[in-house]
Order: sequence, then structure tokens, then C-alpha cells
Amino acid sequence: MSAKPEFIDAAKSGNILARKCAKCGEILLATVYYCKSCGSKEFGDTILKGAGKVVTYTIMTVPPAGFEDLAPYAWVVMELDDSGIRVSGFLAKISTPEDLPIGTPVKVTGFDERGIVLEKL
Ligand SMILES: [Zn+2]
Repeated sequence: MSAKPEFIDAAKSGNILARKCAKCGEILLATVYYCKSCGSKEFGDTILKGAGKVVTYTIMTVPPAGFEDLAPYAWVVMELDDSGIRVSGFLAKISTPEDLPIGTPVKVTGFDERGIVLEKL
């Protein structure tokens, strides 16, 4: 993973470290390099609550090496409640679409080698 230590620490506390445009206040993912609204490259850090809803996901029945005991799980895209920005992470023990309807509330609970770890609320 190429995530920054600050991002990982925030995720372990249940939060998402994002960027806030110094010029127009747009909230952006920590991975962007310029503001999509105004083009500014000046940002401040902002901490977002890692709670939101499932937008889409893919069920992974064949996990990467080392994570066999956690399968099946879902690779989930969630939209954060506060900002509407989208982040993706893993949710364990999802084997069928009935386990995870679109719109299910989820929260960030940690970070490991796969990335952000999510749980159903
Ligand atoms: Zn801006």
C-alpha cells in the first residue's frame, strides 16, 4: 500500500484523512493533487468521520494470498455521510448480495495490508 502513515492512523481511529481546498473549501480525497472545483493546489488536512453508505461493491471469493481465512469478503465503495466523497475498503464475511444491500450503513474500523477495513453499522 502507498497510503501515508497519517491516513492509516486516521483509518485506525475510524476516520478518513482528506484534503480541504484552501481557496474554495472543496473536500477532496487525500490522493488528489489539485482541486477539481477551482484548480488550486493549496490544501489543508481535514478529518472526516468514516461513516457512510454502500454505493457499490464486488464480492471477492478468491482472496489474495494470506487472506484466505477472511474470504469471502466484499471490496466496497462507500460514500461518506458528511462530505459525499467516496472511499473504498474491505468488508469481511460477505458472500451474497443479500448480505450487503446497496445503501447499507457502514463505517471505517481500521486499516491493514488490503487497505481500509469496514464494518456494517
Ligand atoms: Zn478549490
